[in-house]
Amino acid sequence: MRIAVVGAGVAGLQCAGLLSRAGAELTVFDKGRGPGGRLSTARGDGWQADQGAQYFTARSKEFTEALRDWCTQGVAGPWPGRLVWLGDGEPEPVSDEQQRYVGTPRMTAISRYLAQGLDVRAAVRVGAIRREGAGVRLLDTGGADLGRYDRVVVAVPSPQAEPLLRDVAPELARSASEAVMEGCWSVVIRASGLQGLPFDAAFIRQRPLRWVARDTSKPGRPEGMVWVLHADAGWTQAHMERPAEWVADQLLGCFRELLPGANGALEMLRVHRWRYASSPAPLEQGCLLDETGRIGACGDWCHGNRVEGAWLSGQALATRMLG
Ligand SMILES: Cc1cc2nc3c(=O)[nH]c(=O)nc-3n(C[C@H](O)[C@H](O)[C@H](O)COP(=O)(O)OP(=O)(O)OC[C@H]3O[C@@H](n4cnc5c(N)ncnc54)[C@H](O)[C@@H]3O)c2cc1C
Repeated sequence: MRIAVVGAGVAGLQCAGLLSRAGAELTVFDKGRGPGGRLSTARGDGWQADQGAQYFTARSKEFTEALRDWCTQGVAGPWPGRLVWLGDGEPEPVSDEQQRYVGTPRMTAISRYLAQGLDVRAAVRVGAIRREGAGVRLLDTGGADLGRYDRVVVAVPSPQAEPLLRDVAPELARSASEAVMEGCWSVVIRASGLQGLPFDAAFIRQRPLRWVARDTSKPGRPEGMVWVLHADAGWTQAHMERPAEWVADQLLGCFRELLPGANGALEMLRVHRWRYASSPAPLEQGCLLDETGRIGACGDWCHGNRVEGAWLSGQALATRMLG
């Protein structure tokens, strides 16, 4: 059986891996330069930083087991980062006792591990899915033929899944259109002057920032003072189309206000706009499968949001397709 997976994020890779191990012939397409999706690590001269997912937690038994394997394989590990809430006053420690994990030595180590042995075709943007007999045919955005498959898995953010599913699986497309997603502007900086802070990352109560983290405090990272700044979702939405330089100025200004010690010593390394970063109200359906059992969709917007939700959604879809 030939199966195409559109999207090589956590959900698509987990789904593809299970289907492949069950004997199917898998082809995974991704428009990005490699697998990972929102597990993304920006890299430059002497620095790296996770610019998408910052860490993940494990609540379900299945994902806890997968995480144990990732840790054994050395592609993930606990991040004992000192987390605080930060607003007008003194930093308040986050005391949820939640164990947080990261990919090691970078987030993309996990996607690379999940992609092992799979035929992943990077830099291919799937533009259309058509029914053909008992199967489907995929075309890229230029109309070039990507092959005929018995089944297809759409594992992309909901606003990108909807147009792909509209003609071939209208019910699934309708569900996708109900799963709203929010954006996030992300900035990576070097803040050499910020030594001796009593925390490694902070949830921010002051717009436009929502989160700041010293990426170099995570395990396996190079030494240094590289920080990641994430904007609040509402602020991102309001300024989605602004030039990156303007956005970076605003976020740096807020960072300076919050951490006066950072004054003057900030170097901008990267700005990235995530148009679809998170799904604040996921469908909680596990995954979606059409009445023929041949066209499915998965991703964090189908289940639980976040890395664990995406992984569980990919797992659920493969299990249903195999069952
Ligand atoms: C800024 C930010 C911070 C986050 N922080 C956290 C966090 O701290 N903890 C946490 O658990 N989660 C966090 N998340 C969310 C987490 O990253 C996601 O829930 C998870 O990675 C989603 O995986 P996915 O496989 O569903 O989708 P994605 O990772 O988005 O994968 C979808 C893939 O589909 C590809 N694609 C899209 N359209 C097409 C097409 N037409 N053709 C081919 N390929 C296509 C994309 O290139 C992408 O690689 C964060 C996300 C962002 C962006």
